[in-house]
Amino acid sequence: MQVVAVDGPSGAGKSTVARRLAERLGWRYVDTGAMYRSVGLAADRLGIALDDDPALDALCRRLRIGLEPDGAGGLRVLLDGEDVTGAIRQHRVSELASRVSARKPVRDAMGRFQRTLGEARPSVLEGRDIGTVIFPDALLKVFLTASDEERARRRADELRRRGEPVSFDAVLRDIRDRDRADSSRDHAPLKAAPDAVRLDTTGLTVDQVVERIAGWVAERLEHQG
Ligand code: C5P
Repeated sequence: MQVVAVDGPSGAGKSTVARRLAERLGWRYVDTGAMYRSVGLAADRLGIALDDDPALDALCRRLRIGLEPDGAGGLRVLLDGEDVTGAIRQHRVSELASRVSARKPVRDAMGRFQRTLGEARPSVLEGRDIGTVIFPDALLKVFLTASDEERARRRADELRRRGEPVSFDAVLRDIRDRDRADSSRDHAPLKAAPDAVRLDTTGLTVDQVVERIAGWVAERLEHQG
């Protein structure tokens, strides 16, 4: 399977690294967190309780989530045709995403979507369970980590750049809460696949991380023949 799985906790650098890696390989970049964020946003707008499985199932079946290249290496996220790229990045949507992502019907629906995308074209998929559940036969599985403080600093910087003033302490607390929820849920908890390559990005630049992963991809492709 021509898939690179990039998993790990929030703020480990997955998005930037996966996007840049995909660009470099000429493969499709799939941000699976954006899918869960879109479902969380849609459920919230419609007043659907975030643990109402039948309603979430129905929502996921009719929702059209589009991930389109934005021409600048990133993705434009469309929810039933509406551009929600900015809206899903709001701090409060992280919490909505984490809650709906623990629900089985949501995971099943998004998993189907992710497999369809990854099977159609060589892809770099970024998420929490790509290597463990979605593509256990991925060409390469990378599990990115970084210290809690570094991850919080990156998230806080990103939110401030987007014009959302947040305190470092609040982001650090939220990251730890979200990690705990993501790691302890019943369905597809956040954990490294046994055959994943672990990479701690603390103190590394994006270029260094991408360089290292691209090297591993090249090795695997060579072995594949
Ligand atoms: O990666 P991002 O922070 O955008 O993801 C938002 C939330 O979506 C995560 O905290 C996690 O709860 C959920 N998620 C998931 N599985 C994925 C991607 C994201 O459960 N593959």
